[in-house]
Amino acid sequence: MSFDTLGLSAELLRAVADQGYSEPTPVQQQAIPVVLQGRDMLAGAQTGTGKTAGFTLPLLQRLNTTPWQGKGRRPVRALILTPTRELAAQVGESVATYGRYLPLTSAVIFGGVKINPQIQKLQRGVDILVATPGRLLDHVSQKTLDLSRVEILVLDEADRMLDMGFIRDIRRILALLPHRRQNLLFSATYNNEIRTLADTLLESPAQIEVARRNTPTELVSQVVHPVDRERKRELLSFMVGSQNWRQVLVFTRTKHGANRLSQQLERDGISSAAIHGNKSQGARTRALADFKRGEVRVLVATDIAARGLDIDQLPHVVNYELPNVPEDYVHRIGRTGRAGNAGQAVSLVCVDEHKLLGDIERLLRRDLPKAVIQGYEPDPGIRAEAIQGRGNTRQGARPGARNGSGQQRSRRAAAGAAAAPRAGVSAGRGQQKNQAGPGRGRATSGKPRRRTAPSGLA
Ligand code: AMP
Repeated sequence: MSFDTLGLSAELLRAVADQGYSEPTPVQQQAIPVVLQGRDMLAGAQTGTGKTAGFTLPLLQRLNTTPWQGKGRRPVRALILTPTRELAAQVGESVATYGRYLPLTSAVIFGGVKINPQIQKLQRGVDILVATPGRLLDHVSQKTLDLSRVEILVLDEADRMLDMGFIRDIRRILALLPHRRQNLLFSATYNNEIRTLADTLLESPAQIEVARRNTPTELVSQVVHPVDRERKRELLSFMVGSQNWRQVLVFTRTKHGANRLSQQLERDGISSAAIHGNKSQGARTRALADFKRGEVRVLVATDIAARGLDIDQLPHVVNYELPNVPEDYVHRIGRTGRAGNAGQAVSLVCVDEHKLLGDIERLLRRDLPKAVIQGYEPDPGIRAEAIQGRGNTRQGARPGARNGSGQQRSRRAAAGAAAAPRAGVSAGRGQQKNQAGPGRGRATSGKPRRRTAPSGLA
């Protein structure tokens, strides 16, 4: 199927062609015609499926076909809400990229940076606004933003927004919008909270689904390396060095852990940066840019900071520590194997984490292959210790955030008979064969990359 058949205008097709996309992804094939019709939509799609273009392209087209005729400043006609600053920035980039041949204006607003430049931008008139909920409400309370003309609302990664405790903010924002509007809700996972939100927000929505719930992409090969708690850093440095990994996203459970690991890697001679909620927005943006350019080899991140990161053709994701919430494992490994490229997800698992691994395997409904690395065999005499912070409020959640989200409920439901990992099973089942080498699949000339469409998630 080609993009030409979806009813998009010549300007949008040109912008898509500039990106080198040869065909629409499954979510784009389904979403674009629905959004063009003006219908509400409930879309089950993870990051990595091409969902951003799936809503951005038809949204741009709809705004452009009925241009604002009124006098004075252009009002905000489309509002896209995202849970994190990074995702807002990325979606903002997509809006600018796909809308480059259209006379529409857009802005991105999120917290952690000065508000005045945002106010100035809003004063100039903005058709499409991409925002995180907190800063959006700051603007509303300062009367620097009017949302009474919004025609299209997009909630991107709605599950994560609820997870981060944004439901009250979302309800406050909904109350500021006109009743008649088009609503698009994207979520990678469904739970009762999402369903309730969808029921109150959407009117006879078209439902599209491109990923089975909580199923990681087939393109990602996954392996667990059992290792002692105190030897994880050494093993990580060894793997990065010996296998010549050039671009690795590493997850830790805590901000402090991310900082410490990043410093230790630097001491090991591996260029590294940490990205998490305590870093200034400038530092986060710089770290991400350096990582994307290949100047930083290892980016160490916490779950919240990494949510929605789109790093082109990221070959390696390492779970330095398993997440407390099993669904976060799926989100983490979704950072690799994106847009049709193979990826590798490695988990370094110590004796403390056997229960967490059991929870993840139960969610995935399969055991993950285990491979002990020679020289890093776990010491059977080491006893499990309690993991700090388990059972507390999620890291990065806002004060007053609701506990008992679907994820937390499912974690609690999954508590119980945890399957211990079978340490010592050698690498088999073809896991190691799929390693992506440095620079794998990169474009070599200045020509636009011709990318194959992400297959969606299996
Ligand atoms: P998203 O799920 O929106 O975060 O997109 C994931 C990645 O897929 C991004 O890097 C996009 O640039 C890329 N992408 C989007 N649409 C296509 C397409 N039709 N063909 C190939 N890659 C695409």
